[in-house]
Amino acid sequence: MTHHLAILPGDGIGPEIIAQAIRILDKLIADGLDADYQYAPLGGAAYDEYGAPYPEFTQNLCRAADAVLLGAVGGPKYDTLDRPLRPERGLLAIRKDLNLFANLRPAVLYPELANASSLKPEVVAGLDILIVRELTGDIYFGEPRGIHTNAQGEREGVNTMRYSESEIRRIGKIAFEAAQKRGKKLCSVDKANVLETTELWKQMMTELSADYPDVALTHMYVDNAAMQLVRAPKQFDVVVTGNIFGDILSDQASMLTGSIGMLPSASLNETGKGLYEPSHGSAPDIAGQNKANPLATILSLVMLLRYSLNNEAAAHRVETAISTVLAQGYRTGDIFEDGCRLVSCSGMGDAVLAAM
Ligand code: NAD
Repeated sequence: MTHHLAILPGDGIGPEIIAQAIRILDKLIADGLDADYQYAPLGGAAYDEYGAPYPEFTQNLCRAADAVLLGAVGGPKYDTLDRPLRPERGLLAIRKDLNLFANLRPAVLYPELANASSLKPEVVAGLDILIVRELTGDIYFGEPRGIHTNAQGEREGVNTMRYSESEIRRIGKIAFEAAQKRGKKLCSVDKANVLETTELWKQMMTELSADYPDVALTHMYVDNAAMQLVRAPKQFDVVVTGNIFGDILSDQASMLTGSIGMLPSASLNETGKGLYEPSHGSAPDIAGQNKANPLATILSLVMLLRYSLNNEAAAHRVETAISTVLAQGYRTGDIFEDGCRLVSCSGMGDAVLAAM
């Protein structure tokens, strides 16, 4: 079965970094990967072409695709547009349209880049964590919410932490399945000692674990998880948690690696369709200069191969090529250190292709 991919280069450095990921994809296709792809605009590029950040053309392509690879959106040129027309609205719209409720963010620190972390190299070298965050529920969306005046005449802010069994089950399944594809350890993060919503979360994760006997499930309170992430982060394999805890812990974990140009992400729906994109933005300060690090985007392609196409062999091949080029000393400016070989964005693409 041919896999159909939608490619959305976006704005700023988006087209440059996507171009390098496409060279890798073309190589995989030439070597037998059964996939094809089509381009569509998103964000500012879509506004320029169609007058909307997520136009119908892009919607139709993304709905029909098996997976979507995105560069980045946004830029100063669009900052004065009415809010509904801004590039970031395109991003929110596509996430909603495709019902992407699971956010997967790996934090991998290649041993060669250990000096980029703010933690001691021995604490982080070889780190390989995957944070699975629920994206569409929890206190960010729970009702009732708002600011009102209470009976005492004082203003009061209200938000509601809420998760249903089905919402917890579907994110739990994604996390257990991700753990099966990795180190087979899953840590569920909650605050079950204080919050009933997360007591249900913990119960459901324990129930689900019966279906995944090959995965070792543990539970951790969120405050302890925050501490352990900086004390001994290599103890973690996959971490699953709700929207608000995941928002904070995934940013904390990603910064253990120190380099924004190396961080991919995936957002998945129930059918395994996903949107794959680097964690960084469109970097207008270096756009058009062939300087950007394309590795976060190429690593997003790796996640696409692994999670939407279930092609571990191809994912592993590209991952190994990236490890090789880092060991060979190739570095874009953002991860450069003395003694390494400085390369451009396309130069890094050349190196990865050569290593494949
Ligand atoms: P940014 O991530 O674009 O840039 C922050 C810094 O990191 C900049 O100095 C940039 O040069 C550098 N950087 C980022 N990616 C890099 C790469 N691959 N290689 C080398 N250096 C890199 O964040 P920002 O400056 O806050 O935002 C710029 C624009 O991007 C804004 O319009 C913002 O709204 C948008 N944005 C988009 C996304 C997205 O598309 N998912 C995410 C965040 C920000």
